[in-house]
Amino acid sequence: MNDQRRHPSEFDLIENIFAPLAKSYAGAANLKDDCAILSVSSGYEPLYTMDTLVEGVHFFGDDPPNLIAKKLLRVSLSDIASSGGVPKAYLLALSLPTTVSYEWLKVFAAGLTGDQKFYNVVLLGGDTTSTRGPLTLTLTAIGEVLEGKTVRRSGALIGDDIYVTGTIGDAAIALRLRDEIGAESLREQYPKLYERYLLPQPRVELGYLLVGLATACVDISDGFHADLKHICDASSVGAKVLKANIPVSSLAKKVLTRQNKYWDSVFGGGDDYELLFTSSPENKEKIKKIAKESGVFVSKVGCTVAGSKVSIFEPNGDLARITNSGWTHF
Ligand code: ADP
Ligand code: MG
Repeated sequence: MNDQRRHPSEFDLIENIFAPLAKSYAGAANLKDDCAILSVSSGYEPLYTMDTLVEGVHFFGDDPPNLIAKKLLRVSLSDIASSGGVPKAYLLALSLPTTVSYEWLKVFAAGLTGDQKFYNVVLLGGDTTSTRGPLTLTLTAIGEVLEGKTVRRSGALIGDDIYVTGTIGDAAIALRLRDEIGAESLREQYPKLYERYLLPQPRVELGYLLVGLATACVDISDGFHADLKHICDASSVGAKVLKANIPVSSLAKKVLTRQNKYWDSVFGGGDDYELLFTSSPENKEKIKKIAKESGVFVSKVGCTVAGSKVSIFEPNGDLARITNSGWTHF
């Protein structure tokens, strides 16, 4: 590898690494023009969402670059899903310290290539700059949703059922175990948990099916309790949840049985990227049907009530003590 390759020009990067990701879509003009063109299907309206991942805050410098890329894309796809949309395309902004090599970027792009096929999205454009700060990755995802049918956080009604997809807490438990036993042991002893923290599974197969059924939806990025509170605040309702109904994976259960303190990570840990939604009890059978159709595991965890509090109850009827109610940056 010559010097120029180790410190590639912006032009070289765009042409060789990123343009192939835009090739299948004429509106991206091979990343050779000032703007890309994108239209939405008739009867639909566009959805936009942006996320930034910063080295040392959202990922570790030695995490595999292909998985960092997938995580970057998937956290935004999760937002599109939680709004009832279907993802279509994305824009990418890279702030690169000189320590990032051409090889690193190739593996990063390979991660995107795989996910583009899987989620049926395409790169539209972006921006590339150098930085003296940490590696900073920003992605804007664009989706489409039936006109006027976006699922908001604000539509929950008193008496709705509360549902979550998948299992809760795996990613946060993995992160905590990583601190305690190190990345190597985590990978060896709990490979499934390690994967959950590295690689979210946005519920895009289910999100668009929630249109017309879910009164409110949020994707769990800050933590189960905090994100349920987001729905409650936006909808002016409270929530009652039974701890025993919160779905946890068998591996997480093992960790929780040994050490009760990890329940904090289930209630308050972020990074699950599961969907948390509310729906009228009369839709119960329809929810079961779309869960089956999409292949996404859906559990009812509680119901909305009058008030503004999120209460989680132990099996004996006591209120669960929440010591870690969610992730905030500041
Ligand atoms: P401008 O000078 O007009 O801002 P740039 O030189 O920043 O344009 O970018 C040229 C083209 O390359 C544009 O089409 C832009 O969308 C694309 N591009 C730049 N960086 C990236 C990136 N990291 N990923 C995808 N496309 C990019
Ligand atoms: Mg320009």
